[in-house]
Amino acid sequence: MRAARLTSWGSPPELVEVDRPVPTGSQVLLRVDAAGLCQSDLHVMDALPGQLPYEPPFTLGHEVAGTVAAVGDGVDPRRLGDRVVVHGVWGCGDCRNCVRGRESYCLRLPGGPVGCGLGLDGGLAEYVLVPEERFLVDSPSLPAIEAAPLTDAGLTAFHAVDRHLRLAEGGTVLLIGVGGLGHLALQMLRAQSVALVVAVDTRPAARDLALRLGAHAVADSVAAGAERLAGLGRGPGVDLVIDFVGAPSTTSAVPAVLAPGGRVVVVGSGGGSLEAAKGRTLPNGWSFTAPFWGHRADLEAVVGLAEAGTISSSTRTYPLERVGQAFDDLRSGRIDGRAVVVP
Ligand code: NAD
Ligand code: ZN
Ligand code: ZN
Repeated sequence: MRAARLTSWGSPPELVEVDRPVPTGSQVLLRVDAAGLCQSDLHVMDALPGQLPYEPPFTLGHEVAGTVAAVGDGVDPRRLGDRVVVHGVWGCGDCRNCVRGRESYCLRLPGGPVGCGLGLDGGLAEYVLVPEERFLVDSPSLPAIEAAPLTDAGLTAFHAVDRHLRLAEGGTVLLIGVGGLGHLALQMLRAQSVALVVAVDTRPAARDLALRLGAHAVADSVAAGAERLAGLGRGPGVDLVIDFVGAPSTTSAVPAVLAPGGRVVVVGSGGGSLEAAKGRTLPNGWSFTAPFWGHRADLEAVVGLAEAGTISSSTRTYPLERVGQAFDDLRSGRIDGRAVVVP
């Protein structure tokens, strides 16, 4: 089968021919129907040797929708043919976080591969081997192209937004970065709260997408976004900042716009930082969080939102042969929503 493999740090993936895996025991083989591309894939390929706690070679692709093609002898063969999405954080399943349904924070993951396409073979291939059935969530009625981005862009957005909806309710929200993650987070915020939401993106096409998806206003910088929010009539300051960029230019602009009691959720891995100190640059009652991916139950909820039509992925598709072009387009800001590869 063909697979897009990262063979060394600092290089694009190579499309190569590899053996199709054969599942044994608890393993499930999926035929990949669609796989989304994430800005994190670029961070991974660009990583310096030793920067990440795993090594190439491995097949990229951590946003996967597929069909069960074969199972090991420990898996019910009635699974064959099921359409599923992959929960890509492959936690141990029995540490105290995994047993509490907080698989994204599995105590055994730090220091090694994260899961599907992140240190272990992922879904930018014709088939992907999933180690256990518990990493699958059924998605029988969603088109695979729409389902694949839910597993990271949707899941991470949900995990970043859902637990702050109470604060957002009736308040002001600045959403920074309307790309793969941000365009889904925006839909969740608009559908699930009566927050005023201003979306910030440096790309005009992303701002247009944000307006189509229900942003109350858009801006090209954090400061301009906070001004637009203040102009909407709920008073000054931002209650909830959700930063899907996380670059120095965005995180450094946050303290000046946060309202007292405000919260900053940094999701983007753009190398920015915030100084956490009392009584300095941040208003009283600030809080920060830097969520990682999302839990299995979150993914079930996200699939439910998509099935109900509450959210939907905007996508541009590419055949697997053009995966290099797809990554180039992502890197140069030519994708609105999510790039999805169809093997
Ligand atoms: P994307 O490329 O699809 O979207 C990023 C958007 O941000 C683009 O629309 C871009 O125009 C915009 N942007 C870039 N610089 C900006 C700036 N300075 N100000 C305003 N807008 C700016 O990326 P994505 O796949 O949605 O990922 C977003 C970030 O989240 C990446 O850093 C990615 O690595 C990270 N990520 C984190 C997690 C996590 O678990 N925390 C999971 C997935 C992705
Ligand atoms: Zn990702
Ligand atoms: Zn665990």
